[in-house]
Amino acid sequence: MQPTQIPFAIAIHGGAGTILPEHMSAELQAAIEQDLANAVKAGHAILTQGGLAVDAVVAAVKVLEDSPHFNAGKGSVLTHKEMVEMDASIMDGRNSEAGAVACVRHIKNPITLAYDVMLHSQHVLLFGEGAEEFAFSRGYDFTEQDYFFTDRRYDQLMAIKEQGGVALSEANYSQGSYPDDGKHGTVGAVALDQLGNLAAATSTGGITNKRYGRVGDSPIIGAGTFAENGNVALSATGVGECFLRKAVTADIAARMRYLQEDVSVACENVIQGELKQIGGEGGVIGLDAQGKVHFAMNSTGMYRASIDTNGLLQVKIYAE
Ligand code: ASP
Repeated sequence: MQPTQIPFAIAIHGGAGTILPEHMSAELQAAIEQDLANAVKAGHAILTQGGLAVDAVVAAVKVLEDSPHFNAGKGSVLTHKEMVEMDASIMDGRNSEAGAVACVRHIKNPITLAYDVMLHSQHVLLFGEGAEEFAFSRGYDFTEQDYFFTDRRYDQLMAIKEQGGVALSEANYSQGSYPDDGKHGTVGAVALDQLGNLAAATSTGGITNKRYGRVGDSPIIGAGTFAENGNVALSATGVGECFLRKAVTADIAARMRYLQEDVSVACENVIQGELKQIGGEGGVIGLDAQGKVHFAMNSTGMYRASIDTNGLLQVKIYAE
């Protein structure tokens, strides 16, 4: 007889937005799917070995930050000043510990720094130069802006500057001069480990043509990221200003905690309801304490993958 398996699972996202098959080449789709599979497997390997959910989400997010296909770490979108400014956060559902960084420019893996803020500072959120000073004091390398810069992001910024707005990395500019046939997005992960711990992590370059110093939802606990043992782990992606105004992940967790809503009901209620009503395009990934995964989105797609409690791998891009 097989020993009873303690359920564990992981889910990730690589951003939501106007993701349409007609804007995607077969090669690009295959490369993105490969990165998503690699990321979710990296996190799952840690869970399989009995590692912590919080380490699994960091491992998964790092793979996505290192890929040029997503709007986090390498491949981050550019600000109006043609620079990369990245935000990231992590939450450990065991003890409600959290760490975050905002507006960092020279850190290869902002999620690792967010984790170190949680573990080794007395704070939850460090910003800009202060965050980088903390990083360098802990031995982080200074990564030049050139590392993050991609031609595609530059072309994308130029197109959006012409239109005078800001845009999600996956926004649809087919009617204008949006030249970015590659669809890239904010990244995140949620995990449940064999001890029943939940954790969530999110990392982003933000939105194209954002003002210098703009901070979105991704580094804000309760907006872009939330985890609470016995309840749920959540990571969001979409128009950060709307996710901030609706405290999206805190609201989903509260619905589950106080109304006993199922993870799928709570996620859909917020993403298709109040968030959509204020124009908040995007989505969220949720994982409950039993290992049930739910992906909710009000956009045409969200890069996503999961390995469920049965060990089944799924990778998806478009809304269903
Ligand atoms: N939520 C991110 C932000 O507003 C963007 C995204 O998810 O693509 O910074």
